[in-house]
Amino acid sequence: MNRKQTKAVRVRDVWIGGGAPVLVQGMTKTDTRDVKGTLEEIARYAEVGCEIVRVAVPDREAADAVKEIVRHSPLPVVADIHFDYRLALTVIEYGVDKLRLNPGNIGDRDRVEAVVKAAKVRQIPIRIGVNSGSLEKSLLQGMGRTAETLVASAARHIKILNDLDYDQIVVSLKASDVPTMVAAYRLMAESYDYPLHLGVTEAGTLLQGTVKSAVGIGTLLSEGIGDTIRISLTGPGEEEIRVAWEILKALKLRDRGANLVACPTCGRLQFDMWPVVEELERRLTKVVEPITVAVMGCAVNGPGEAREADVGLAGGKDMGLIYRHGKILRRVEQADMVEEIWKEILAAAEEVRLSGKGAQRSHA
Ligand code: SF4
Repeated sequence: MNRKQTKAVRVRDVWIGGGAPVLVQGMTKTDTRDVKGTLEEIARYAEVGCEIVRVAVPDREAADAVKEIVRHSPLPVVADIHFDYRLALTVIEYGVDKLRLNPGNIGDRDRVEAVVKAAKVRQIPIRIGVNSGSLEKSLLQGMGRTAETLVASAARHIKILNDLDYDQIVVSLKASDVPTMVAAYRLMAESYDYPLHLGVTEAGTLLQGTVKSAVGIGTLLSEGIGDTIRISLTGPGEEEIRVAWEILKALKLRDRGANLVACPTCGRLQFDMWPVVEELERRLTKVVEPITVAVMGCAVNGPGEAREADVGLAGGKDMGLIYRHGKILRRVEQADMVEEIWKEILAAAEEVRLSGKGAQRSHA
């Protein structure tokens, strides 16, 4: 897939843009003032593959908490700030790795200049985060809530930063309406070469939010647009990270964890397959090595898929044949299926680990 070339921006030890792998971002849901809770949440995110984490900084107390959060976070930390430039100055001083801040919302030029100056000294980037729910009234009156309005809003913020000779910029143009979001990012990619942070905002609960995100973000990524992604779900943040990885894996942009191939089952099925797949899916969330596991219901497509996978099972009458790298290893009865496949999965994961082929990362 040809990816659009964008400027590279460094965030602690990772790069966004410039051809670096598309990074997975998350945002904590704990009150940032709760340092211990926020760090525990960040650790859980890191475990499932989050690469950059954002925390909300709504007030002075939250800004103060950022000091300890940055110090102990295993991931680069982005501070999300609206309106109050003093909070931005505080978290920059505390060593935050990136800001999400719209300079046009800060007020007078001196304040923006102070933030930009501090960001330059610490060499941290700023994400301009345009959101369809909070567009400037002046733009909305003339243009409505359209893709062009989102881009016009981003252009205003970019100009403010460019006028201060600052270009360590990442841009997002989030809308809850998927076609609007897709059109806005396409337009942005045609007009600028700043790295793009993709997201569908207020996407909803697990099912709807996943579908909207996969369609919106997936469409753009398949066109080579996008340098980092964040899934927004009303639910646990770990699910957001998992969905993000599934999108990247489906497009073969990144590799991490298992790819579970399973047939939908039909009237030819002759063993109890769903519980086997459910249990394997649950266990596979802990596997970080990129391996393919296939569980197939019968002899129609089963042997073909099972043979292609690192570990496969092709079902028969109350039994299945286990495959490893294309070869049949043994026959297993229904009661032993999960444990027998799991043994092979662990062995395949170990092989990958020893070969040194892990998840891609974009270290600076
Ligand atoms: S593999 Fe067999 S059981 Fe599964 S959907 Fe195909 S035909 Fe049906």
